[in-house]
Amino acid sequence: ARTIQLTSRPDEVPTEANFELVTRELSPPGDGEFMVKNEWISVDPYMRGRMKEGDSYVAPFELGEPLEGGCVGQVVASRHDRFAEGDYVLGNLGWRDYWKSSGAGVVKVDPQLASPQAYLGVLGMTGMTAWVGLKRIAKLKPGSTVFVSAASGAVGSIVCQIAKANDCRVIGSAGKSEKIDWLREQAKVDEVINYKETNDLTKALGELAPEGIDVYFDNVGGEHLEAALEQMNDFGCCVECGMISTYNATKPPVAPRNLFKIITKRIRMQGFIVRDHMSDQDEFLKDMSALIKSGNVVWEESVREGLEETPKAFIGLFSGENLGKSLVHIQ
Ligand code: NDP
Repeated sequence: ARTIQLTSRPDEVPTEANFELVTRELSPPGDGEFMVKNEWISVDPYMRGRMKEGDSYVAPFELGEPLEGGCVGQVVASRHDRFAEGDYVLGNLGWRDYWKSSGAGVVKVDPQLASPQAYLGVLGMTGMTAWVGLKRIAKLKPGSTVFVSAASGAVGSIVCQIAKANDCRVIGSAGKSEKIDWLREQAKVDEVINYKETNDLTKALGELAPEGIDVYFDNVGGEHLEAALEQMNDFGCCVECGMISTYNATKPPVAPRNLFKIITKRIRMQGFIVRDHMSDQDEFLKDMSALIKSGNVVWEESVREGLEETPKAFIGLFSGENLGKSLVHIQ
């Protein structure tokens, strides 16, 4: 099997030199095992944290060992009584073309219900992150003004549309004109900011939200968080989902310099990790399926072809290459 491993830990933004494609022997499945051929591999910003040494909420990747992450593939050989040849499965052994399993942590997915890769995106961890952040953390109320950073990304694009479907006013920020167009035309957000073309994000946000922001869905941290705190209404909520602007930093971030606003404005700021909310998965799937059926949620995929493209797809997350969910497809 071909796998991609980490050869060195990135110092700042990862480069292709940090990764290596190697071939490893994979014996046929034994009793109680099955073999999967990956078709779709997910690349996600949290993987950057696992490339660092030291404690985080997931153990660091080991140098010289295959990387891991969400993937969907098809069972190609089986000696397992629950998984048969031809089944589509969702697992966590991405960054490789074939893997073997005894079934722990692997779930079957129905490719008739949705495309297989949707289980890595809108119907998977990505969609559920958006849903948990708004429903469980923000406890979203209709009529709220919601500001979303990395708004055209995998999580952000779903956040914008769930908020719209709940009769909220949505302001989205992104860093490319094609993303801005998509947010307006497809996600139907009310206002957009191209933060790369704005030298005063706080002012730009204030102009678009003259009555203030009730919920900030934070994917980015740094200056976006500072701008949101400045424009937040009293008793508003900052949903701390991610801080991608800091993931490659070698020094502590400068912004937000106005954290004291959480006191003066009595802001609730809460971080969350989606996997703590797995007991809500059925409710999420019910809600999300209904939103998709009614046409209230659409999504994009940025796809690279071939396992060897996985490092490039991953690195591209930090330059904003992707619109929607970033995926690698293996023929
Ligand atoms: P995205 O699809 O949103 O991809 C990342 C995007 O972030 C890029 O396309 C880029 O878009 C934006 N970005 C990159 N660098 C910067 C920067 N320096 N400043 C501002 N924007 C930047 O990824 P995901 O949807 O998978 O993840 C979004 C966030 O959610 C991440 O922070 C991630 O860690 C977090 N997350 C948290 C989970 C949880 O359980 N808490 C679960 C899943 C994700 P642009 O063009 O707009 O700059």
